[in-house]
Amino acid sequence: MSIYDRFGIRTIINAKGPSTRLSGGFLDADVAAAMTEAATHCVDMAELHAGASKVIAEVTGAEAGLVTSGAAAGLLMGTAACITGLDPGKMARLPDTRNMKNEVIMVRSQRNFYDHAVRATGARLIEVGLPDRYAGAGVRDAEAWEISEAVTERTAAVFYVAGGGSQPALSEVANAAHAAGVPVLVDAAGQLPPASNLKRFLAEGADLVAFSGGKAIGGPQGSGILAGKRDLIMAAVLQHLDLDIYWEQFAPPKEYIDKDRLRGLPPHGIGRTCKVGKETVIGLLVALRKFTAETEENRSRRFRALIQKLEMALAGVDHARVNVTAGTVPKLELHLVKESPRTALELCIELERGNPAVYADPSRVRSGIVSFSPWCLREEDIEKIAARVKPLLRY
Ligand SMILES: *Cc1c(COP(=O)(O)O)cnc(C)c1O
Repeated sequence: MSIYDRFGIRTIINAKGPSTRLSGGFLDADVAAAMTEAATHCVDMAELHAGASKVIAEVTGAEAGLVTSGAAAGLLMGTAACITGLDPGKMARLPDTRNMKNEVIMVRSQRNFYDHAVRATGARLIEVGLPDRYAGAGVRDAEAWEISEAVTERTAAVFYVAGGGSQPALSEVANAAHAAGVPVLVDAAGQLPPASNLKRFLAEGADLVAFSGGKAIGGPQGSGILAGKRDLIMAAVLQHLDLDIYWEQFAPPKEYIDKDRLRGLPPHGIGRTCKVGKETVIGLLVALRKFTAETEENRSRRFRALIQKLEMALAGVDHARVNVTAGTVPKLELHLVKESPRTALELCIELERGNPAVYADPSRVRSGIVSFSPWCLREEDIEKIAARVKPLLRY
């Protein structure tokens, strides 16, 4: 009986991969044990964050870092840091950004649901570039000169969403932004693995980068990382910490928060709502160490073995062709044939509603494809998935 049964909640087989809607992935035993142990002590949160910063700096090559309650929280606090700098008055006033640098430049084709986290600071997005995909040729997206042109005295940051096809290249965007004295904040939530990407975006010129801790890193579901320039991280952490404390009492590690550079302590900032518990910080650090310790070859071999087992278990499935994709994280795809008793979306929905519930990846159902990711699968899930899929594709 699982802990969820006790509360009348079913568990599911997550074949979509670590997504927030499906509760992320699951923790390795040593990450879970670390969180349990961390929960049995108390620490000073400023000291905890300073210690975590050292680990994040080592792993990312950044000057400093902050464990956040997710990549989205990192985007919110990173944006806030770019707007306020180390000014406690501005920190106190957010999300009222009057008389502050409150514009964030973003390539239009990179707009997505998560940019709400940037806007939540009170910043206004300034979109540049026209991703022409409808007028025949449609080859252009945004170009670096368009970012330069959009910079004004009100520009707080350039926001960049890293991804396979992101245009223009980050290094070009960083050059344009830095020439105008503007920092670049990168959303790299979903850009792991490879683990080398932990360093890559900062090396390409990002001033701040946000990663999700609950996705590939394998940390607690509600965790993330914000890493980057020391001053910006200091501005972010000051807007995150609970600062209901006398000025004289406040004694954070100087290399993390340099009190001498502050003219006063802000009240609770906009990031106070993105609270991170000590268990989460420690869980993230242990997961991060584990994630970076595993070679990409090993990761890939582990995932490929699972997918090959699923492929074998699905042998002889009706009305679908089975395809295994290439790459570090291979996926198994079912390409449904025209005569299939169900559409791809119907198959996904039936799988979710049955017992055991199987959540596949529906992102390509419009092309008749249902995908299965190995990220959050255990060996014992494989036969269960096949046993659910096969009857649903039979008349
Ligand atoms: C998942 C994701 C986020 C949010 O990450 P959380 O850790 O869930 O907050 C932000 N941006 C992108 C591109 C993502 O894929």
